Amino acid sequence: MGNDRVYNFSAGPSMLPLEVLERAGAEITNYQGSGMSVMEMSHRSKVFQKIFDDTQAKFRQLFCVPEGYKILFLQGGASSQFSAAPLNLIGRTGKADYAVTGNFSNIAYKEAKKYGAIRLAASSEDRNHTYIPTQDQLQLDPEASYFYYCANNTIYGTEWQYVPDTGSVPIVCDMSSDILSRPVDVSKYGVIFAGAQKNMAPAGLTVVIIREDLAGHELPYTPLMMNYKTMIDKDSMYNTPPCWCIYMLGLVLDWLEAQGGVPGMEAIKHKKAQMLYDVLDRSKLFTCAAEAGSRSDMNVTFRSVSEELNDKFVQEAAAAGFTNLKGHRNVGGMRASIYNAMPTEGIEKLCDFIQDFDKKN
Ligand SMILES: *Cc1c(COP(=O)(O)O)cnc(C)c1O
Repeated sequence: MGNDRVYNFSAGPSMLPLEVLERAGAEITNYQGSGMSVMEMSHRSKVFQKIFDDTQAKFRQLFCVPEGYKILFLQGGASSQFSAAPLNLIGRTGKADYAVTGNFSNIAYKEAKKYGAIRLAASSEDRNHTYIPTQDQLQLDPEASYFYYCANNTIYGTEWQYVPDTGSVPIVCDMSSDILSRPVDVSKYGVIFAGAQKNMAPAGLTVVIIREDLAGHELPYTPLMMNYKTMIDKDSMYNTPPCWCIYMLGLVLDWLEAQGGVPGMEAIKHKKAQMLYDVLDRSKLFTCAAEAGSRSDMNVTFRSVSEELNDKFVQEAAAAGFTNLKGHRNVGGMRASIYNAMPTEGIEKLCDFIQDFDKKN
């Protein structure tokens, strides 16, 4: 890798593809002859409108978003959707089902309780969120306005390997940390949302994909800026959208297309994760936190035999150019976040480092 860059295993904000950063750098003071940076442009200008439209169209094509669904580019982070989803959707029956499989779904669950009758459809808390409940374990209410889950649990390193069957109940899904890493049948969902800073773009952009008929039934006190209908009607431009991040997403989507699109990326990311899990499973010192069958391809959580050795591993890894491998305090140990932009070479080298550490300690 160029420019003395490190292999950055941060959970988010995280690595962006080097080609994307270089292209953004080349265009940063004068975007395609406009005489200004994308950061300096009116969001109502023709030049920016084209960036916006192209990015939206590319996203629709690469993520296979069908007709009848709107793609919104909003601010506020994924966390703002923890409030927006219930405010906009719970009005139909006043009830919703939540699967709590980690930190972020738990926050969403608690937030939703302000707005209606929220039921715990499943929880993995009994084993510290090391697994994903099976379809049989989901206790679903056919009268729920929606069913909510988080596709990839960034902190715990678990990932849903199936789309829950909820009958006619719309599904709301937080895909912040695995969007664009695997093909998704969008037609199975009511709302998909994701903060951009894990797998898509710099922090500040939130992508929301919504089945259009679900909008327009918000609770009367829904804040203007959280109203899906307002944002659909104004094509995300009720106010100033996160212009620079939308531009960056466009560059990332071009890069993704060159990797073979989402199916190409799925093959690459699965191979990367498998390499890492194989090395950890074969080691004498390390164990993985997540149970087999629930392991995430995006966030690999693992630990050694002692706290001292965990600290030593993190320190020596950082000195060798593998940064941000310390695990979240809820799990301890280590976490390697290996989103789309982490090159395969970074995983190969980390695997060598782990094997070497395993031998020496
Ligand atoms: C990071 C993350 C969030 C929080 O995103 P913000 O954009 O900081 O609000 C929510 N859900 C998941 C799954 C995440 O990984």
